[in-house]
Order: sequence, then C-alpha cells, then structure tokens
Amino acid sequence: MRRSQLFIKTRKEAPADEESKNAQLLIRAGFIYKDSAGVYALLPMGLAVIENIKRIVRHEMNKQGGNELLMTSLQRKELWEHTDRWDDAKVDIWFKSHLANGSEVGLAWSHEEPISDMMREFIASYRDLPAYVYQFQTKLRNEVRAKSGVMRSREFIMKDLYSFTRSDEEHQKFYDSMTQAYLRIFKEIGLGGDTYLTYASGGAFTQFSHEFQTVTGNGEDTIYLDREKGIAINEEVMSDEVVAQAGVNRDKLDKVQAAEVGNIFSFGTHKSEQLGLYFTDEDGSQKPAVLGSYGIGVTRLMGVVTEHFADDKGLVWPENIAPYMVYLAGLGDSEAARQAADAAYDYLTENHIKVLYDDRDERPGEKFADADLFGIPYRLVVSDKSLAAGGLELKKRASTEVEIVQKDQLANRLKNPLQA
Ligand code: ATP
Ligand code: MG
Repeated sequence: MRRSQLFIKTRKEAPADEESKNAQLLIRAGFIYKDSAGVYALLPMGLAVIENIKRIVRHEMNKQGGNELLMTSLQRKELWEHTDRWDDAKVDIWFKSHLANGSEVGLAWSHEEPISDMMREFIASYRDLPAYVYQFQTKLRNEVRAKSGVMRSREFIMKDLYSFTRSDEEHQKFYDSMTQAYLRIFKEIGLGGDTYLTYASGGAFTQFSHEFQTVTGNGEDTIYLDREKGIAINEEVMSDEVVAQAGVNRDKLDKVQAAEVGNIFSFGTHKSEQLGLYFTDEDGSQKPAVLGSYGIGVTRLMGVVTEHFADDKGLVWPENIAPYMVYLAGLGDSEAARQAADAAYDYLTENHIKVLYDDRDERPGEKFADADLFGIPYRLVVSDKSLAAGGLELKKRASTEVEIVQKDQLANRLKNPLQA
C-alpha cells in the first residue's frame, strides 16, 4: 500500500471527550473513527489488526474441530423468556426493538439461546454429537459506562464458540482443550507473558467459570495473581474455598488490575432442558445436551494490546497482528533514492511482506513520526545517505539502533525476526 493512497487522516489531538488511552491513540493514529460514546468504526489499519487477531483465533478454533458459521443479530423474545434472560432486571445490557407488526425482538448480545434452539433441528441422536460451532459476530450491548474505548464498547466483535456434548466427561475434555487453545491464542497475539487463567463467577459443576485476564493498568477488573503458578482469582469470587480449588498459594497472591480478554463457561444441561434440546443416547434414553460457551473479545484485544505496549511516541504492535510489517520511507529527491525506494517496495510486495510505502513529499521528521505513531514493527529508510552507507536503514519500532541492510536480505530478515 502506498501512503498516498491510504484512506487515513491522523490527528494531533484526540477528541476532548475521550478518556481512555486506547481510543485516544487509535483515533489519533487513524485506526478507528468515533461515531458516539462506545461506538467506533474500524478504519483500514484498525480493520487489518482485527483481521489478524481473527486469523489467529480462527486457526485455533478450527484445530479444536470448530465449524465457523454466522448467526443473526435479530433474536426472538420467546427463546430468552424460556431461560429467564429476557427481563431487563436479569440482563441489563439488552438493546431491544420492535417489528413493524409491533412484536418485540432482541439485538444480539450473546447466542446461547438461539444456537441451542437451532441445534434442535440438527441433533437427534448421540451420533450427531459432539458439535462445535463458532462465529465472529458483532455484539450489541447497552453498556451503562462506555468510557474504556474499544475495551468496553456498545458494539464490538466477539468470537463465540458453543460446544454441545453428550456427557459431563466429554464436555470437560473439550473445555480443558479449549483452555489450552486460549492460552496459545493470547501468546500468539503477543500477550502471552501477561495473560492468566483466572477463576471467576458463573458456570455449572464447579460453580466457577474461567476468564483470561491480561494484567494492564487500565483494566476494569481486580485479580489476585499467583505469578509462579500462572493462575489468578477474580476479586468477585475471592475466598478460601477458591484459593484451595485453584491450588494457589495465598501468601503469594498479588492484587493487580487486569482486563478480561476471554471467558469460558460450562452451562451443564440446564439450558438444554429449558429449551428442549434432547438427543437419543446409545441405550435409547433421551438426554439433554451439555452446553459450553467460549468467548473472546476480539475488539477488546485491540484495545488491550494498545494499552499494554504503546509508548510516548504512539502505538506498538506485536508482529503477528501489526497492520503492516514495514513502514518504508523514501527520503530526498534524488532519482537514485527514489528508484531504490520503489525497488524496495516492489521487492517486499513480491515477497508477501506487508509494507506501507510513505511515498509522500513530506519532511523526514513527519514520516518518522507517523511510522512511530502507527506502531509498525520495522521502519525502512531509503535515502541518499543510506545508499552512501551501502544500503537501506532498518530500525525496529521500539529500538533506537539502526542497521544497514541490503534489499535482498529483507525477506529472510523479516521472516525470522529473532535472527540478529
Ligand atoms: P465484562 O465482564 O467485561 O462486561 P462479560 O463477562 O459480560 O464482560 P462475556 O459475555 O463473557 O463478557 O463476553 C466474552 C468476551 O467479550 C469478554 O471476555 C470480553 O473480552 C468481551 N467483551 C464483553 N463485553 C464487551 C464490551 N462491552 N466491549 C468489548 N468487549 C467486550
Ligand atoms: Mg465474562
């Protein structure tokens, strides 16, 4: 992509009413556009980050046997009445609307009910199970307090997977496997060192659900963390009983702020009983399916990564989710420098390395400031000076060290970032 063709406008200042660091930076850098409080549009580079996160999540979900589908945003009131989750006193974040004929519909904030209901048509016998389905869907939630930017918005992309299994044992095996998949996902995204499996409220069987919490200053949750064990307990369920169950050391718990990036949940058979999702087991008996629900906040992750890594110069993206790998800045007006920059751009494009080529007629300082603000992992400068020094200047976003490299080394260098 040539910078001159990129749909973007950076800003010197974030909107005055925006309190959160993540939204301030993402807006200034032109990754998102604020429509209203808690409602943000994804601009090209923001969307690229989201798509990269989705690619990582999708890969792991498919490995678990997940089938991707896409459910509807309009939902039937009756289904949620069956499970007592329609009442605003029970679920306080519903957006509701009316059809032209006056009947009420709900706007999707979660999908356990509609998916379980749909499954009644797909599941008849034990041979139809287990079934694992997931989606990336825009969830709508009427959050009272939407002051944390994309970490808590009224409209956001969630990955939600639902498991339907035949027994508690079969459920538990899948649940444990998903726990490991989640840990791999957060590691792959770049948050591995600071994201912890956390005991939280809710869930059948053990009375707990499991959250994945990333330790970060602006997180809304308080957790008690055993760093040695790599396990935490959400403040909301902190007690001697949970400490024992989690197998953590009470004396070693650190109280820290964290953001919930994922949540996995066992529902047992309760919802299937309420909604009538039964299957005929091998022995001929009728049994309700066991339901599990597994969410990841895709949009929130973009905010958490922003908060976690950004510095005083701007965004800092981990390589696996960066919108571009290289910010190529052509400097000076000499024909030689311009040709060398074009050649570097062609080379990177041919080698499938995502590059943003700043081909504008701007001062070097302007281009460098944008490279930093956008948080692109590598900055590559082509100028008369770099050519005189024997090549192109390569610098990592977070480093001040500059290295002279040859164009033809780049593919190898950038695909093996750990290489010296
Ligand atoms: P929270 O406790 O933060 O309100 P939740 O427990 O209601 O979240 P879930 O229903 O478990 O959220 O949703 C799955 C994931 O979706 C959460 O782990 C979180 O990462 C993300 N998420 C939830 N609400 C929002 C929101 N308003 N904006 C952005 N992401 C969200
Ligand atoms: Mg949750």
